Amino acid sequence: MKIHLSEIKEEGQDYKFTDQDTWLTQALSSLDESDTELNRLKPPVTTALKARPTAVNLNLCKIDGVVIARGDYGTELSLLCSRCAKLFTYGLKGKVYDLYTRNREFAGEKNGGVTGTAKSIHREEDENSPEITYLNQEWIDLSEVLTEQWVLQIPLQPLCKSDCKGICQNCGSDLNVGRCACAKIQTTNSFSVLKDFKGKRI
Ligand SMILES: [Zn+2]
Ligand SMILES: [Zn+2]
Repeated sequence: MKIHLSEIKEEGQDYKFTDQDTWLTQALSSLDESDTELNRLKPPVTTALKARPTAVNLNLCKIDGVVIARGDYGTELSLLCSRCAKLFTYGLKGKVYDLYTRNREFAGEKNGGVTGTAKSIHREEDENSPEITYLNQEWIDLSEVLTEQWVLQIPLQPLCKSDCKGICQNCGSDLNVGRCACAKIQTTNSFSVLKDFKGKRI
């Protein structure tokens, strides 16, 4: 979803998107994880787009050549649990507050910092004000804006639940379902190994 910079006005405009917006569902689907290698290899376009409850609210305005994108989002991703390797639905929620400009100086590319004009734009904000991103083109791509946010929100080691017990390293059983027999066998083995070892040294 590309919005030309000339369409963005100082007074701003609200945009609302849902999973009825194909570009949005496409962007989300590209972040979905899959539990089979076959699906993983398929390009996202050919994979059926997964419907999901999605609400994205954005307001775009432009002040002194700086585009301010603000809003929030709530949606879902399919992620693989880092412990049990099962797919689960991960609730993705957050706020958007990004600044974009075609002006390299504002973007801090020259002196590596936020410059005067840029500062005055968000002087009412706290120190958490975002950096200004330089735009390479005359439009802003909302799917890029959102994907950037989402990627940061995805945990490095997603868990289907905080106390997921994972799978047995030995037999691959899902330990959330029940204990496998390995725990017992392993304990017995390590004890006997220890005994042997001690026996040799003594
Ligand atoms: Zn899990
Ligand atoms: Zn096991």
